[in-house]
Amino acid sequence: MTLLDDPAFWRFPVTAQLVSMGVFLLAAGPLTALAWLDPARLRPYRLQSRCHAARKQVPKAALYWLGNNLLMFALVVLLWPWLRELGVDTSARAPSVLEVAASLALFIVLDDFAYYWMHRGFHAHPVLYERIHKVHHRVVTPWALAAHTMHPVEFILTGALTLLWPVLFGAHVVTIWCWVAFRQLEAADGHSGYVLPWNPLHLVPTYKGAGFHDLHHARFRGNYAGFLPYLDRLFGTQAEALGARAGAAVAAIESAVTGASSTAGDAELRAARASGEEPRGAP
Ligand SMILES: [Zn+2]
Ligand SMILES: [Zn+2]
Repeated sequence: MTLLDDPAFWRFPVTAQLVSMGVFLLAAGPLTALAWLDPARLRPYRLQSRCHAARKQVPKAALYWLGNNLLMFALVVLLWPWLRELGVDTSARAPSVLEVAASLALFIVLDDFAYYWMHRGFHAHPVLYERIHKVHHRVVTPWALAAHTMHPVEFILTGALTLLWPVLFGAHVVTIWCWVAFRQLEAADGHSGYVLPWNPLHLVPTYKGAGFHDLHHARFRGNYAGFLPYLDRLFGTQAEALGARAGAAVAAIESAVTGASSTAGDAELRAARASGEEPRGAP
């Protein structure tokens, strides 16, 4: 049987990729239009006072989206013979709603934990930040389509984490479609730049809305989790708390310029410099 005659090939690599790209575009398209048009009526729901750069950067972000997604698809197709052996359930039986919901809850917890440490690692190591993660942080005032503006290495690693748990647990392919759809909704909403009151994602327990990740882009440090804020609370990396430290570092710069004596903020500044995390981009 050739690859193209294998129904499992069409159900996993092909359909999962189409679901991923389609759901992202359906969510990010209108949200990007919102950032582009910036209607005065919805400004009270905009997170930052700065205007979004959507008008200038849509073509570039669209190229990142297309290039990264095609690369991801090519890799999954390349690895398909191996992934197939790992036991993804591509049978015709449909999983129950309860099975899908339980699987998604488990994947959210596991994926967020792994993403937190990967993301924190990108910030902790100057080489990783400069060479890879910096591409995503060119977006200081997020807007939806820019969620996929990433270095290809970061995009592949993020995608691999997303698929790791369903593949390891032998999830049914319908569950995988729901999972990748959810991740893309989360990515588009988390970068939308708006907290809209009628957003159905706010019904998901623990979800903090776009404000959580938006603050990471604005302040550059803290809020490393993708979805669950408990991780940043647990490990002391909340953006609000780190923002205060960055404020101390800025005070240290000011005192150096004005010739004032050394303050506790100097130590913060040296620590920030040593980790490659100069305070910047505060809203
Ligand atoms: Zn980051
Ligand atoms: Zn982001």
